[in-house]
Amino acid sequence: MYLSKFISIFSFTLLGLLSLSCNQDTQWKGQDPIKKVDTHTLPIQLQYKGIFDVGDAIYLSNEFVGARLNGAARTNDTLITVLISPENEKINPSPWYAFKIWSETPQSIYIRFSYPENVGHRYYPKISTDGKHWLLLDSAFYRTENMMEMDGIEIPKNAIIKMNLNSDTLFISAQELITSIEVEDWIDQLDTNDFVSKERIGESQQGRPIEMMKIGNSDDEKMIFILSRQHPPEVTGFLAMKAFIERLCANDPLAIQFRDEYTVYVVPLANPDGVDNGHWRNNGGGVDLNRDWADFNQPETRAIRDIMKNKTVDPKNKFYVAIDFHSTWEDIYYTEDSTSTGNMPGLIPELIRLSADEFEGYEANIKSGLDSDARVSSSSYFFYEFGAESFTYEIGDNTDPKFVQEKGKVSAEKLMELITSN
Ligand SMILES: [Zn+2]
Repeated sequence: MYLSKFISIFSFTLLGLLSLSCNQDTQWKGQDPIKKVDTHTLPIQLQYKGIFDVGDAIYLSNEFVGARLNGAARTNDTLITVLISPENEKINPSPWYAFKIWSETPQSIYIRFSYPENVGHRYYPKISTDGKHWLLLDSAFYRTENMMEMDGIEIPKNAIIKMNLNSDTLFISAQELITSIEVEDWIDQLDTNDFVSKERIGESQQGRPIEMMKIGNSDDEKMIFILSRQHPPEVTGFLAMKAFIERLCANDPLAIQFRDEYTVYVVPLANPDGVDNGHWRNNGGGVDLNRDWADFNQPETRAIRDIMKNKTVDPKNKFYVAIDFHSTWEDIYYTEDSTSTGNMPGLIPELIRLSADEFEGYEANIKSGLDSDARVSSSSYFFYEFGAESFTYEIGDNTDPKFVQEKGKVSAEKLMELITSN
């Protein structure tokens, strides 16, 4: 039921995006080229975890996995201000928030989101009564003020929402909560298939497991690598990855044949510390993991590098495809420099084209060669180090969840059709 609400509001956004992407001139140009940065460990600011008593029998809390609430204070009789701040200074503007609120007596209250200087309100609030099922906040209860520019995009500096409170706890979050708990449940569910196994390939800065799934019945001669959630708030990209992987695990002739030929290695949660601590961007070492694929100063990137190197010690074994799932302002694909070729030349443009053809009026937004010199992101590492045809698969923050799922599924299907022998 909550889904239909999601869809009705999101479909408006989707139509807007689709019409926008039909016209090349107005397509979003994507992020600036990736620059190499220092990825040595930096201190992070830990959140105070507890209950915030703001008077009048209203309480807020960040005592759950994935929460981010740095302060809460009463501004006046009807308004509470919540303070949301990042884990450290060197940060990309992905202002994640997630907290709980309740009142001992039924009452309505306004909540104002406040962020540090130069950061605005990016994520439209999602609401849940149980932390599992989410819906978009009713737009009648949402308003914004003070427009500003962030990342070259016009967004509000602040948002104010109205909540009707009672003793039942409400979750308010930037995106639906998918922490290490939900990811583990998902892995365990897939692990019930006889062609799936899981392995702990390393530990994060703070000692959380880095888990990898192996999918397929073949040896390691033809391998595919899938990565997700280097960046904690990027839940929509994770959901595309989930649909993609589930399609590879289906029990139709195409998927069965695919799994007889290829082995898929998946690290669905590359940054468990960041996700579970409600970070905006970085890992437990205060570093953007997707800038650490040249120097490998962080344990998460090292674990993935080591397992990939280990799998390719035998020169017969090759990674043919690698996809890293993310989220950003709008759907976009960042592909590698088209003048260089890997183990299956031409595969990625063909895959993107065939996938896009499945959606009427949809034109894929593609930006190529973002990281061809610096070689600091995962996608360029997979390409230049292993010859894997690779790209960064970005889903918009507000892309319709139904479309996200369909797109993930279609991408998997087209990939299998393209690379499985007939
Ligand atoms: Zn990202």
